[in-house]
Amino acid sequence: MKIIGLTGGIGSGKSTVSSYLRKKNIPIVDADQISRELTAPESPVLSEIRILLGENAFHADGSLDRQAVADMIFSNTQLRNRYENLITRETAERCLAQLRRLAAQKKWKAAVLDAPLLFECGMEKYTDENWLVDADLATRLFRVQQRDGISEEKVMDRIRVQMNDSEKAARADEIIDNSGSLEQLYAQIDRLLERIGYER
Ligand code: ATP
Repeated sequence: MKIIGLTGGIGSGKSTVSSYLRKKNIPIVDADQISRELTAPESPVLSEIRILLGENAFHADGSLDRQAVADMIFSNTQLRNRYENLITRETAERCLAQLRRLAAQKKWKAAVLDAPLLFECGMEKYTDENWLVDADLATRLFRVQQRDGISEEKVMDRIRVQMNDSEKAARADEIIDNSGSLEQLYAQIDRLLERIGYER
């Protein structure tokens, strides 16, 4: 089973590509969703977070107090690094476990690891090739503003904290240009799927 890493900056169109691939019946491992589940109630990772950040990071009912966590880690770089390392490591392990389960089913020609922080978190070591979705900055800014109803400045703030696009492009095997229409986007994906042996 070929494992394809799918990544891209904010508003590049990763989710749009991922939905299209899902419709084509390609299994998707969603790193963002897995990372959100890590801090959901009953998650075993909560006890590790308790060891790291203490009881103040939790509400009385035992659920994670996200605001308290943010306050603690953003005022302490060392703590932030340890917290982020914990979440990154656990996310990566769970992604790998899901990929292994899919491979063991022996029915998939390919699976996609959808990970906005694929390169930042070193998850490309699990993949056979990596696809970067990209669009020009003005288009990304416009689409995210439309989608989320936030200011251009806010979108730029989010974009600035990510790894720069040229570094990602240098590490990608394929660049999917999503500056045009959805039809143009889907045609590019169809060509990539054909290359790896998937029917349209
Ligand atoms: P984020 O990283 O912020 O989650 P993303 O990379 O997953 O973003 P999408 O949510 O797929 O990006 O796309 C951003 C917005 O642009 C969405 O509202 C989507 O419907 C729209 N969009 C994506 N591609 C196109 C396109 N080719 N033409 C028009 N709209 C598009």
